[in-house]
Amino acid sequence: MICRHCHLKSATRPRGLCWTCYNTDGVREKHPSTSRYGRRGPGNFNGMGKLPPFPTSAAPGSPEKVAILEQRAELRQALFHPDDADFFGSSRSRMAQPA
Ligand SMILES: [Zn+2]
Repeated sequence: MICRHCHLKSATRPRGLCWTCYNTDGVREKHPSTSRYGRRGPGNFNGMGKLPPFPTSAAPGSPEKVAILEQRAELRQALFHPDDADFFGSSRSRMAQPA
């Protein structure tokens, strides 16, 4: 296998990089881990995150709700707010819409 960065030397280090690229500042960060055990994404944490500052009117399963969940996980907040909209067209989602 050839180095993913310089395409010149053989990849002898993790992430498909050669020794020089692996040990050059900034290069390693540009190439995500190829290991099946590598850590990716915001990670998993135990315990209760703090409550998000405001509920969302996005309906469950909608792309908007998924984006909100990603954002909350990134900020290590609780994924669900008790006042989140619980179905399409719920009164909670109507309340949260601008007048
Ligand atoms: Zn290289």
